[in-house]
Amino acid sequence: MRKPFVAGNWKMNTDSRSSVALATGVAEGSVESAGQNVDVAVCPPFVYLRAVAGAVSSSSVAVGAQDIYFEEKGAFTGEISASMLKDIGCTYALCGHSERRHVIGETDELVNKKLTAAIAGGLLPILCVGELQSEREGGQTEEVVARHVKEGLAGLSAEKVSAVTVAYEPVWAIGTGLTATPDQAQQMHAFIRKLLSDLYDNKMADAIRILYGGSAKPGNAAELMSQGDIDGLLVGGASLKAEDFLGIIQAAV
Ligand code: PEP
Repeated sequence: MRKPFVAGNWKMNTDSRSSVALATGVAEGSVESAGQNVDVAVCPPFVYLRAVAGAVSSSSVAVGAQDIYFEEKGAFTGEISASMLKDIGCTYALCGHSERRHVIGETDELVNKKLTAAIAGGLLPILCVGELQSEREGGQTEEVVARHVKEGLAGLSAEKVSAVTVAYEPVWAIGTGLTATPDQAQQMHAFIRKLLSDLYDNKMADAIRILYGGSAKPGNAAELMSQGDIDGLLVGGASLKAEDFLGIIQAAV
């Protein structure tokens, strides 16, 4: 039985005051649901991670980073390592978010290095995969998602991959207000789970959590999560208001 997981990706939003207020609101509001019935995480900008980790420390809300670098330390100006993230109380790290793939230009190879470093450093990576609108229209959805999954996890044993959460995020649905229908999302989640079973084994594929991301909100969360292979949600815009994010968490309980 996979425990539902709801993670909020704050992207490049909030400031020192509002990040703590939002984290406190989520921690206080999810006191009853988070932890026992659903795992909850928030992923603030790097500079607010420490303050947010402090704000949620007496709750079961976990903290995640939006990115990570694969080297441990040294001359990598501007980058942040797994051990630094662990040091300030991070549990999760997003790897390969579509904005990093398509705005910053991250390749599957780089995503794989980051994900491998996250696991080695004791973090739980969330591997984001998903097709562009043009790729969906061109009939390449499965090919693109299979490549993101295979290359993102390249070189990792089933045991290592058990630390990973996969997030299926069709790029055309991120921040656009367009949501994949529950059927469209379920179809891709089942495809990813079957792929994991072929790459590894049934046991591992059955245990791994696959989140949906793309304009999730309180009004569509329950229906999305009622699908057999949708184990939770990665939430962008709607994670920036405690009330909306808590509504989504409630839908997962
Ligand atoms: C995301 O950034 O991962 C995301 C799913 O964003 P939104 O919910 O705003 O579409």
